[in-house]
Amino acid sequence: MIKPTVREKKNFGFADVPEDTSFEAGYLVSVNSGWRSIRPVVNTDKCIGCMQCYLYCPDGVISIQENKAVIDYDFCKGCGICSKICKPGAIGMERER
Ligand code: SF4
Ligand code: SF4
Repeated sequence: MIKPTVREKKNFGFADVPEDTSFEAGYLVSVNSGWRSIRPVVNTDKCIGCMQCYLYCPDGVISIQENKAVIDYDFCKGCGICSKICKPGAIGMERER
C-alpha cells in the first residue's frame, strides 16, 4: 500500500532562506520563460518589500533590491503565485505580447 507523504512541518526564519534567486544559486540553468503567456509586473509605488513574493515564488526568481521586489523574467514561468500572495496588490499579471 502506498502511504501518503506528510511534509515535515517546521518553522524557519529569513536566515534559513537563500538570499539569491535560484538562477544565481545555480539551481535553474536554462531559460524557462518561453511558454509564459502572462507575466507579473511589480508596481514599485505599492511594493513595501515584505518579501512574501520572494518566499513563495516556486522558481525562486524574485529578489529584493533596495526594498523592492525584482523579477528575473528569463526564469519566471508566469504562474501568478506572487501576485496572489502580495497583500498590498503590488504585482499585476499582464499578457505577454
Ligand atoms: S509581496 Fe508585494 S509588497 Fe511584498 S515584496 Fe513582494 S511585491 Fe513587494
Ligand atoms: S509568476 Fe510565478 S514564477 Fe514568476 S515570479 Fe511570480 S511566483 Fe515566481
